[in-house]
Amino acid sequence: MISETLQNAINKQIIREMYSSNLYLSMAAYYASINLNGFANWMRIQAEEEMAHALKFFDYVLDRGGNVALGAIDAPQVKWDNEVAPFEDAYAHEQNVTAWINELMDLSHSEKDYAAISFLNWFIDEQVEEEKNASEILDRLSLTHSSPASLFLLDNELKQRVFVPPTA
Ligand code: MG
Repeated sequence: MISETLQNAINKQIIREMYSSNLYLSMAAYYASINLNGFANWMRIQAEEEMAHALKFFDYVLDRGGNVALGAIDAPQVKWDNEVAPFEDAYAHEQNVTAWINELMDLSHSEKDYAAISFLNWFIDEQVEEEKNASEILDRLSLTHSSPASLFLLDNELKQRVFVPPTA
């Protein structure tokens, strides 16, 4: 059985993951609107991944005998100034997500909830990947200013991304 405190904290995280999903979907729409369809594809897949994270937390609350309580999701930003800006925001956002996951881990430790610690380890590792992916693409994007050709090469590369459901 999960504690009410941890259950409520995870319910909050479910809403944040859903917000993340909508944020990335909004970024996908922005990239599609400027015809960077590879970037749009990458963001669309990212949105799917975030929804999968939300469902992973959702299932966990239920598995531990808790109650899922969904709530309002903030509206995401809809416009960006240039093609670099969404990835600046994505990188900053993932750093926030890491801090939230760390808070959940702190709470699990304070409650000596070893099952929750084990479950959250997956997200701790996942956030290393999330920050790395966003920062790598951001670095490469900032190099494309002087070379439009390299922007289209990167766009082509990001077109290849496919959704891989997270493992258990
Ligand atoms: Mg996530």
